[in-house]
Amino acid sequence: MRISLSLTTVLGALAVGAAMPASADSTVIKAAHYLDVRAGRTISPAEILVTDDRIVAVGSHVVAPRGARVVDLGARTLLPGLIDAHVHLFLHPGAEDLQTVQESVPARTILALSAAREDLLAGFTAERDMGTEGAHSADSAVRDAIDRGLYPGPRLRVSGNAIDILGGHEDAIAFNPAAHVASNADYANDAADLVRVMRAQHKEGSDFAKIYETGPDEIRDGDLHTPFQYTAAQLRAAVEEAARLGTVVAVHATGEPGTHYAAEAGVASIDHALQLSDATIALMRQKHIPAVPTLAWYEFFTTHSPTAAENAAATRIYEYKVREFTRQVRAGVPFAVGSDVGPFPHGTQAREFELMVKYGMTPLAVLRADLLEGARLLGWGDSIGQLEPGFYADVIAVDENPLERIETLRHVAFVMKGGVIVKSPATGS
Ligand SMILES: [Zn+2]
Repeated sequence: MRISLSLTTVLGALAVGAAMPASADSTVIKAAHYLDVRAGRTISPAEILVTDDRIVAVGSHVVAPRGARVVDLGARTLLPGLIDAHVHLFLHPGAEDLQTVQESVPARTILALSAAREDLLAGFTAERDMGTEGAHSADSAVRDAIDRGLYPGPRLRVSGNAIDILGGHEDAIAFNPAAHVASNADYANDAADLVRVMRAQHKEGSDFAKIYETGPDEIRDGDLHTPFQYTAAQLRAAVEEAARLGTVVAVHATGEPGTHYAAEAGVASIDHALQLSDATIALMRQKHIPAVPTLAWYEFFTTHSPTAAENAAATRIYEYKVREFTRQVRAGVPFAVGSDVGPFPHGTQAREFELMVKYGMTPLAVLRADLLEGARLLGWGDSIGQLEPGFYADVIAVDENPLERIETLRHVAFVMKGGVIVKSPATGS
């Protein structure tokens, strides 16, 4: 009994902003407009009826049960909670490659909980965590603690450690070999290894597998050069094992031929996607494999690398990235929105929306990529990403119409996740 009492106290302290609705309570959210992302328009005025954790009705006027609480957000626009399909809750700025060496997994787990809260308060109600980088399956514990209501955070899909080859992109290759610095990823050197590692990670709670397919990247003679790590046949074995487990494979894949191998194997997403050949683009369109551009990460390191020379190298890659992204948009590549936040500060990743618009997409296309494609990629296509009856009540409000001014997504005034208000303008939290 004492345990349950203290748990209640913790939950009370964590209800940031307005009070949590009691079970079976109903809330009507009112605002000037709401975004129908599928139809591609805003509807005015807006009312959303929420009961428990679900949306019950949406429209200009809803019939609310007597005693329903009303939250009036005035002139704002309502839209579904944002989705970030590429995050690292276990990374923070300034220490990316040294975290495995310098920081304990328990310390990093506490920081991950704080990162999850920052992302949620910025309006991201669902995220795909693309690798703990050495914290193994600690992300499963974070996901489960959030799901149980112990800590505030987005609903999560997690991969555990990423998977990489011996001597590969994430294998601590710049250190004294005698120091035996641990890799940030789990080793798998061939198809049988991939299957074995994926089974071990699944046992520890992973929702999908993240595999490094390329890296490191170098711009030489105006083009990107990056070694591949697995053949198409090896990746296909991983995709087949994922299907057996009821999950999917996502790859870090920056360039050819690795991006093509990944598309051939039928991965769920190609993350970073700096360089996609015409043949790869055709396969991605045919199989509906989204690219996740992570522009915000590339932009950040043009000015935040450790040295001026590294800033210059990052700038060359970013300029290449921007040029290729614009070409990919014109070629009709499907996209989801993922920022790669973690190496840059959590809660600031709405920058990704601005960059996708800046370099060729309309605000509506970006929002559809985020909310519709993102929901599908996370395996929640029928429960998040739209303001529809039966969907989770993941709702945010912004001051301006995001179809006209995408920058408004940087300043989310109101956040509800699963019917719980976690941020509201009244409290300013
Ligand atoms: Zn990443």
